[in-house]
Amino acid sequence: MDHSPRTPEDLAKFFHSGAAQFVLGVAQLEQLPAADRPECAFIGRSNVGKSSLFNALFGNSSLARVSNTPGRTQQLNFFNFRDGAAYIVDVPGYGYAQAPTAEVKKWQNVLKDYLRGRVNLRRAFLLIDARHGIKENDVEMMKMLDTAAVAYQIILTKIDKISAAAVTKVLAEVQSKIKKHAACAPEILVTSSEKSIGLEDLRAAVLRLIET
Ligand code: GDP
Repeated sequence: MDHSPRTPEDLAKFFHSGAAQFVLGVAQLEQLPAADRPECAFIGRSNVGKSSLFNALFGNSSLARVSNTPGRTQQLNFFNFRDGAAYIVDVPGYGYAQAPTAEVKKWQNVLKDYLRGRVNLRRAFLLIDARHGIKENDVEMMKMLDTAAVAYQIILTKIDKISAAAVTKVLAEVQSKIKKHAACAPEILVTSSEKSIGLEDLRAAVLRLIET
């Protein structure tokens, strides 16, 4: 592996220079690629700002479009990261009950099995909209991650939409709630794709994960 980018500028340049490419959509577990390299996943409610964060991280608006095409089958979208050194997985947004219940159930089982069985999954990033904090279906997702023993970390999104005081308040609320969740990292990443806040920390965290 070539020399690791370390300064915020080098990190941004690296992430923006085609560091991630779409490889595969996985709707059924049989389609999963071999668990032969480190992987991290991005998860969150629909509309949490996941596509915007991908765009901001990688400077590539077509990446997230792959995942966000309306009407597309629910699938885990795998991206090659760093010339195939790792996978980044975009998990479809949850919280909109558009699909028939049987479909939802089927998808939840696929997701559960993926999380439970994926030995190379280093961490899941769980995105939470700073305006709304942790909602009921986020708690369900956190429980699913706890049960699957997947290490995860909260990313607060869209912090530019609220005041500094409101950010402090939601951070305190989230900190208090995650204490009950064994698999959740205590450090919360605070981001805004719109104002490019917190992207350096997230880029550094992703790189660290795949290098350790
Ligand atoms: P997704 O469904 O999770 O992929 O969410 P999107 O990335 O499509 O974002 C949903 C909406 O929130 C869009 O209208 C975005 O423009 C908006 N949005 C996303 N991130 C930010 C942010 O950091 N700041 C602000 N102000 N708006 C954002």
